[in-house]
Amino acid sequence: MTEVAASTKRNLLDLDREGLERFFADTLGEKRFRAHQVMKWIHHRHVTGFEQMTDLGKALRAKLEANAEIRVPQVQFEKPSADGTHKWLLAMDGSNAIETVYIPDKGRGTLCVSSQVGCALNCQFCSTATQGFNRNLSTAEIIGQVWVAARHLGNVPHKQRKLTNVVMMGMGEPLMNFDNVVRAMSVMRDDLGYGLANKRVTLSTAGLVPMIDRLGEVSDVSLAVSLHAPDDELRSELVPLNRKYPIGELMESCVRYAQRKRGASVTFEYTLMKDVNDQPQHALGLIRLMRDFDNRLQMKDAAKVNLIPFNPFPGTRFERPDDAAIRRFQKLLNEAGRIAPVRRTRGDDIDAACGQLKGQVMDRTRRQAEFRKRLQAGGVDAAA
Ligand code: SF4
Repeated sequence: MTEVAASTKRNLLDLDREGLERFFADTLGEKRFRAHQVMKWIHHRHVTGFEQMTDLGKALRAKLEANAEIRVPQVQFEKPSADGTHKWLLAMDGSNAIETVYIPDKGRGTLCVSSQVGCALNCQFCSTATQGFNRNLSTAEIIGQVWVAARHLGNVPHKQRKLTNVVMMGMGEPLMNFDNVVRAMSVMRDDLGYGLANKRVTLSTAGLVPMIDRLGEVSDVSLAVSLHAPDDELRSELVPLNRKYPIGELMESCVRYAQRKRGASVTFEYTLMKDVNDQPQHALGLIRLMRDFDNRLQMKDAAKVNLIPFNPFPGTRFERPDDAAIRRFQKLLNEAGRIAPVRRTRGDDIDAACGQLKGQVMDRTRRQAEFRKRLQAGGVDAAA
């Protein structure tokens, strides 16, 4: 085996079980089952040094050292919240940073994972959208968020289930980073990875119709759709992607996804914004959409609804409805037979509530870069 230069070392965190087996067979000339041992070291025991992998022979460890590495995201900042929510700011390469949030709730622990640095979809009520799109995260950077949280939580798969659910609901549109997200979700569901059941891994999309179909072909994870409006006119305003894939097409792709999964439900996320989409006529429109969805699948409660009161962020033109308006909206759904839980705002004290995931460090870095540029161009007073 020829030794590979350090710069070309393969980050094993980038590989799912299949990729790791191939790497062991094709690159290292080793038996595939060795890949399984290494996967357990990485994801169950959170080990990053090959010398600690004591059930591997010395020669194999040396070969791994020469050809591979386990590079995990660096925690730049972490902050626990009074309600148990925990936020990590993870440094990516260059000046990029992303946020990952852990939310414990009644016997389950959900990790909200990011898929991109920033986002290109420009949903009008979204804090991430304000920073624009920077780049896709690699598989290592996506599964690395789970690795960091699991290590922190002392999670041992099948024994201590502190990390019970993952939602791809952080920064970015996961279906625009399809291959890396699918590979990372495969590690989340693998017993050699984090051993989460399909229904405990949820991908949330703004409605990229062709990619929902593609996802249905390769994965069985739970699907959540950011709906936020019951008609095309309003939704196109709030979620510009709707102009390309209107509600009718989106709902049909969700029907196909649920049918492929033999009648699994789909969750529709609805962020309530004061005087924008929180009125009775919106609730009635939503009820009609949900009923049509159930009818298409011939299944009661095939469509689940989550209501999310808007979390204001600096510079937004939207407001959170008052509690009475939220209750009124929910009551209409309840009366039509929908459970429609209202998501509690969590992690308020650390800006980790949904819709507030924002690369603050990146923002700061960008502002500093802009400031330097203006300074060089003589556009600002150096003392400013
Ligand atoms: S809501 Fe999601 S898809 Fe829309 S801009 Fe924000 S991160 Fe992107």
